[in-house]
Amino acid sequence: MQISHLPQLTSPLARGTSNTFLRLKKKLERSVGEAIGDYNMIGDGDTVLVCVSGGKDSYTLLSCLLALRERAPVDFRIVAMNLDQKQPGFPDHILPAYFESIGVEYRIITEDTYSIVKDKIPAGKTTCSLCSRLRRGIIYRAATEIGASRIALGHHRDDMLETLFLNMFFGGKIKAMPPKLVSDDGKHVVIRPLAYCTEADITRFACTMAFPIIPCNLCGSQENAQRKLIKGMLQNWARDFPGRIESLATALKNVVPSHLADPRLFDFVSLTQQTVVEEGDTAFDPLELPQPSARTVQFLSSANNDR
Ligand code: SF4
Repeated sequence: MQISHLPQLTSPLARGTSNTFLRLKKKLERSVGEAIGDYNMIGDGDTVLVCVSGGKDSYTLLSCLLALRERAPVDFRIVAMNLDQKQPGFPDHILPAYFESIGVEYRIITEDTYSIVKDKIPAGKTTCSLCSRLRRGIIYRAATEIGASRIALGHHRDDMLETLFLNMFFGGKIKAMPPKLVSDDGKHVVIRPLAYCTEADITRFACTMAFPIIPCNLCGSQENAQRKLIKGMLQNWARDFPGRIESLATALKNVVPSHLADPRLFDFVSLTQQTVVEEGDTAFDPLELPQPSARTVQFLSSANNDR
């Protein structure tokens, strides 16, 4: 079994001293700290079960949480957890060795969901939905056994935005991935401390840290094609329209129900002259938009010329 390491940007020796790396580390930890604070993700006495798959995101999550625990004003326990789903070729020695090397408390849970999924889902069909449901049940059970009051997942800002567009394009909903949620049975609180971190920063951090990355396609399932398309769309926007993705991320925190059309969020039926409406009367106002940059103008004109 070959374990792919992300390409190293600097040698492990240099990573402790490089100013660029230290700035990146600080930026990620600050973003994680802000998200934890903004959403009250972790409190004094919490036990945080950190789900580590062996991918760059979950390694980064664990690293940031361990660093923050050192200087947090609250005392909390971290338990790293990996679920070995018995996918063919899964290198089950990598994560225990890594957890030992950094001295973190950990649990390895072994459950053969791979066979269940292969048995139940016809060949060629997407297996992720059943697999994720099985995984969720196992993680919740492990959290109960360990006495974890929080379950931390490694989804980041760009995962949240991709989910937003997937839901809008294919689900008819303005719905993303929340930074904090409670399980349906009310027993578990799931947190996403990387909610403010960009995938690009996480990738650079993981490269430099030379985490022992475990490939995520061992089950043979391909990443959802629609998610890939959305990811490509967002990456193109990030390249062609600087600031757009940051604005989208800010928009997730600035919802104005009175200016959408969901009567469950805003009582349009009872709306009268006396109702005070957030952001007020904009019925006749044009949307205030910044002037497009020269680059954007050039991009749009070349796109129009291509038609
Ligand atoms: S990619 Fe494989 S392991 Fe991941 S959720 Fe889908 S089926 Fe499960």
